[in-house]
Amino acid sequence: MIYDLHAHSNASDGILSPQDLVSRAKNAGVDVLALTDHDTLAGIEAARETADALGVGFVAGIELSALWAGRGIHVVGLNVDCSSGALLEVIGQQQNARLQRAHLISERLGKAGIKGAFDGASEFAQGLNIGRPHFAKFLVREGYVANFQAAFKTYLGAGKPGDVKQLWPSLDSLVGAIKAAGGTAVLAHPLKYDMTRSRLCTLLAEFCASGGEAVEVVSGSQTVQETKNMAIIAQQFDLYASCGSDFHTPDQPWQELGRSARLPEVCRPVWQCWA
Ligand code: AMP
Ligand code: MN
Ligand code: MN
Ligand code: MN
Repeated sequence: MIYDLHAHSNASDGILSPQDLVSRAKNAGVDVLALTDHDTLAGIEAARETADALGVGFVAGIELSALWAGRGIHVVGLNVDCSSGALLEVIGQQQNARLQRAHLISERLGKAGIKGAFDGASEFAQGLNIGRPHFAKFLVREGYVANFQAAFKTYLGAGKPGDVKQLWPSLDSLVGAIKAAGGTAVLAHPLKYDMTRSRLCTLLAEFCASGGEAVEVVSGSQTVQETKNMAIIAQQFDLYASCGSDFHTPDQPWQELGRSARLPEVCRPVWQCWA
């Protein structure tokens, strides 16, 4: 069975519609797909309908942004009840935070000599949850950078002017909302935070204390050794293991649907929580 429990549609910063995402997953041999758009459930219904029609297992999910120890951290909620009041409230707060944050990002870019970033990014966001990818597209269009990756490298990535994370809520409140929605809280892509092992262990200890239950032992493409290390860490914290591509777009083959490594045997797969 191929599980891909982290993927984005154009309801957030992915390229494909929820329907096309599920079709692509089907063609890639994915047996169970979770749609985990940033701070929205808007794509879930369409994705679920397509998954039912194509015979793909479907898990309703979401990826929420949190602030932890001055860093931006992502928590995936899997198997959530999309009508949960607690979750919908948090989503509303995240959407407000995104709007406020976009003004701050624009201000900071303004100080770096880039004018009109809020309006420019808003054009790309088209009323959807505005985020850094929309700013990246604006920066590319205006010729400030050569491409999307360069926009993050120069202006939007960790430590750069557009890296604004202070408006995100605590881990605690997000994990609480996911659990109130009957979901499983998963710490997303732990290797992407560029933390030392001891820092990551501190994060995981707090994540567990907040009620977090799983960690992505596999995210996108990573080395065999990285997967082994993450499996050991998951065991150490008695966390369930999740795996997903973090698919956004077909032109990033390192995040292709269904292509990530399988979970090591020692792991307790997160789907055991839903059996
Ligand atoms: P936001 O949710 O507004 O903070 O935007 C974060 C999103 O931007 C992530 O989910 C990725 O899709 C994308 N992203 C983050 N860092 C990079 C990067 N270095 N290169 C390309 N895309 C990135
Ligand atoms: Mn994204
Ligand atoms: Mn993420
Ligand atoms: Mn993601």
